[in-house]
Amino acid sequence: MNILDTTHDTQLRSWVDSANVADCDFPIQNLPFGRFRPADTEEPFRIGVAIGDQVLDLDAAKLVDHADMNRLMAATPEERAALRKALSEGLAEGSTKKGDWELALYAQSSVELTVPCRIHDYTDFYTGIHHATTVGKLFRPDQPLMPNYKWVPIGYHGRASSIGVSGQVFKRPKGQTRAPDAVEPSFGPSKRLDYELELGFLIGRGNALGEPIVIGDAERHLFGVTLLNDWSARDLQAWEYQPLGPFLAKNFATTLSPWIVTMEALAPFRAKFERPATDPQPMAYLDDASNRAAGALDITLEVWLQTAQMRDAGAPAVRLTRGNTTQAAYWTAAQLVTHHTVNGCNLQPGDLLGSGTLSGPTPEQAGSLLELTQGGKQPITLPNGERRTFLEDGDTLTLRGYCERAGATRIGLGEVSGTVVAPRG
Ligand code: MN
Repeated sequence: MNILDTTHDTQLRSWVDSANVADCDFPIQNLPFGRFRPADTEEPFRIGVAIGDQVLDLDAAKLVDHADMNRLMAATPEERAALRKALSEGLAEGSTKKGDWELALYAQSSVELTVPCRIHDYTDFYTGIHHATTVGKLFRPDQPLMPNYKWVPIGYHGRASSIGVSGQVFKRPKGQTRAPDAVEPSFGPSKRLDYELELGFLIGRGNALGEPIVIGDAERHLFGVTLLNDWSARDLQAWEYQPLGPFLAKNFATTLSPWIVTMEALAPFRAKFERPATDPQPMAYLDDASNRAAGALDITLEVWLQTAQMRDAGAPAVRLTRGNTTQAAYWTAAQLVTHHTVNGCNLQPGDLLGSGTLSGPTPEQAGSLLELTQGGKQPITLPNGERRTFLEDGDTLTLRGYCERAGATRIGLGEVSGTVVAPRG
């Protein structure tokens, strides 16, 4: 899966001019998959590939004869590599496909994008050790990390029905909360609404019930990566999370970026997976040479905020944080796949595994407001003088991600935005 081939060649250029612009998220070396239809129509969604500021319709380009992303995701890695090669060759400068494929192109500004595949099941992990430590300190100063953290990838089963695509607008959730000094809980809109900066790993081929995926095969079951915002109501969470974990604090909305950047596209941006020598090393079933050599991903992640007041004043979004996944994740995507199936649990094409909040080691790399404001105690001040401890109605939160390395062409994950509005009634 980490193999570099002609599709990664930095000299490659596309006959789609916008794909050759420096800092473009979707150069010909990327080729991420999504589902689209012409805007303001009721046409069925079909499979497309982002190239520059355009989308290539895979059916019209005669590369697939169906509109089922999950079916495409279930292909073998060899079939996927062949499709990537055909896309790369057809979109490259000088290709004889240009005449036909120009007719299969849509401007991204003219299409509606949706959640990139049917997601049957969603599991959210907790691989961000700095997030786990900082949040743990807020709740348990004596023991920030639970004794299991460095041994077992922690996760919970999330809710797939409330997953939406970038642009998702959702009402502030209501629920039960209990103030620290209160005897009884009260009911009302969440006062501590937060975001979580995460990656979403989408499963390609599944496994049969009772047949675990060994670590050496795990990457063959991963299709690709999206950005994921795991919106979280911290006050609901604090009251409900024991003893069975997150529930209504997390399942009112989860937002994904529309383009799945494939594992093949990420091949130039792999990194060593290393543990400090003083930490427990992964158990044998979660360890192998290739996971150690290149199991980690090197992705820069950013969080941007635009308040309603900023939007009304025509002020751009402000960046709250920037960090890198190599410093944030305690487990690799392959380890999550293997651990998820080690008891025989079956994964299906399109299943979503969230990474957990990917905060870096320093405070300004925090992937949530809970961390940035130290549990709501230290408000942040925005350029226009507004202050935030948690999200207010009208706030739009955007996550961005991209990969940059010497000797490789920069690729982007695009962005995922979402906006919270006032609760009903
Ligand atoms: Mn989460």
